[in-house]
Amino acid sequence: MPRKYLSDTGADKCIFCRIVAGEAPAVKLFEDERVLGFLDIRPLRPGHALVIPKRHCRDLRDCPPEDLAPLLAACRSLAPALLEATGSDGFNLIASNGEAAGQEVFHLHFHLMPRRSGDGFTRIAFAESVARARRAELDELSAMGDSIRAAWRGQGGS
Ligand code: AMP
Ligand code: ZN
Repeated sequence: MPRKYLSDTGADKCIFCRIVAGEAPAVKLFEDERVLGFLDIRPLRPGHALVIPKRHCRDLRDCPPEDLAPLLAACRSLAPALLEATGSDGFNLIASNGEAAGQEVFHLHFHLMPRRSGDGFTRIAFAESVARARRAELDELSAMGDSIRAAWRGQGGS
C-alpha cells in the first residue's frame, strides 16, 4: 500500500481506503491481495456492489495495470454470485471517472448492478441514455475512430 492516500474530503484517507484498512464498516463480499468487493451503502438495486483496488487510485486513469486485471477478474467472478443471490438475469458494470462524469468517491470503483428482465428500473441514467440513443451508421463513426486512434498513438499507445 502506498503511504500517501489521496482524499477529497481533507481526511488523510479516503472512505474506501478506510474500508480497506478496516477503519470504516462495510459488508465485504470478496477480498484478495489487491481487490475488495463490498455492498454499496446506497443500493440502487438489491445486491448493488462495488469492486475496488485496495491500493488507492483516483480513477481509471491512474490505476496501475497490475491492479486493473485483478479488478476486472474480481467483477467477473463476483457477478454470477450476485445474480444467483438476487435472482437476477444480468448486470450493469459501471465506473464513473471524474467529477464531470458524476464520480462522488474519488477512489476507483466499479459498480456491479444486478438487473432483472423487465425490472422497470430507470434510475441508471447512463444505461437508459444508451438504450435511447440513436444508432449511428458506421461511416458516421469512422472519423471519430480515426481521431481517437490518432490521439491514442500520440499518447504512446501502440
Ligand atoms: P460514484 O462515485 O458516483 O460512482 O458513487 C459512489 C458510491 O459509493 C455511491 O453509490 C455510494 O452510495 C457509495 N458509497 C459511499 N460511501 C460508502 C460506504 N461507506 N460504503 C459503501 N458504499 C459507499
Ligand atoms: Zn482511497
